Amino acid sequence: TPRVFSGIKPSGDLHLGNYLGAIRRFVPLQETHETIYCVVDMHAITVWQDPADLKRWTYEIAAAYIAAGLDPKKSIIFNQSQVMEHAELSWIFNCVARMGWMERMTQFKDKAGENAENVSLGLFAYPSLMAADILLYKSTGVPVGEDQRQHLELTRDIAKKFNHDFKKQIKANGHRGDFFPVTETLATGPAMRVKSLKDGTKKMSKSDASDLSTIYMMDGADLIAKKIKRATTDADALPSEAAGLAGRAEAENLVGIYAALSNTSVDDVLAQYGGQGWGAFKPALAELAVSVLSPIADEMKRLVADHAEMDAILRDGADRARAIAQPVMNDVRNIVGFVR
Ligand code: ATP
Ligand code: MG
Repeated sequence: TPRVFSGIKPSGDLHLGNYLGAIRRFVPLQETHETIYCVVDMHAITVWQDPADLKRWTYEIAAAYIAAGLDPKKSIIFNQSQVMEHAELSWIFNCVARMGWMERMTQFKDKAGENAENVSLGLFAYPSLMAADILLYKSTGVPVGEDQRQHLELTRDIAKKFNHDFKKQIKANGHRGDFFPVTETLATGPAMRVKSLKDGTKKMSKSDASDLSTIYMMDGADLIAKKIKRATTDADALPSEAAGLAGRAEAENLVGIYAALSNTSVDDVLAQYGGQGWGAFKPALAELAVSVLSPIADEMKRLVADHAEMDAILRDGADRARAIAQPVMNDVRNIVGFVR
């Protein structure tokens, strides 16, 4: 069976974008793939994290995975730092990747902002750790959001360069053809990119200092309703088909969220609400969001209250991840010429 890896950083409270763009898409893959879902704590510390928050968010993400329907017996669920092979392979990839490749990464430029001289070296090397996460398990597919497309391309470039640079050794180690696979984005339904409720051109993000722009998975019903009510929109009625949303980023976002939460298409949503105003649509969207998110939030709260159970799940997941990673790393060490 093909193997899938994906991860979320414990760098803030989970939001609707993480749910629709990532977590929800992880669930059905359990039935068709070997699935590895990680809480990538080593990625999180590329920017400063308060250690107590880091722990809390690590548990919260693992709980969200399970509450959303991942079964820790089917999927491997663990936190990255428990499997040190991630760090080891990423170092080797730091020596395969080129400075010029990394400098082109738009996420680094966005996150570093004006202050690129004063961000961590880890933030710059981030995509190389991400490539290691994926290739350590020789994963062929990753169900990540659209915002990760460029990093995935870099993962392929690293795999190709490794396969090329060590061609002779890979063969000598008994591998026919390439050592690392070429990883593809897994298409699991429409690639939903949830935008900020206050600015339809910006993605909803964990690390945004947020007020009313972000719907968090743990928000209560009243808060969700309030945020949707206050969401920025234009004054026009909803159009009757998707083409009518062109140039209306905020409207497109809210209708897209409705479609994703109700598992229908944008055209279906507009067939129902076309011609109506926001006063009718927003309460319906709020009700829908609450009905989807609140059972998950309740289960997350139950799970995070029991650290012993969560620790056991993460430890078991790490053991199973390591069992896959170690033989791969043994080969890699041999291939690059490390004496053991
Ligand atoms: P940060 O701001 O710290 O980068 P984030 O919200 O972008 O946080 P990540 O941990 O970087 O979260 O990403 C976790 C997963 O969620 C990835 O698969 C990413 O593609 C997806 N994701 C993040 N934001 C969105 C969004 N607004 N819409 C859809 N998917 C998203
Ligand atoms: Mg991100």
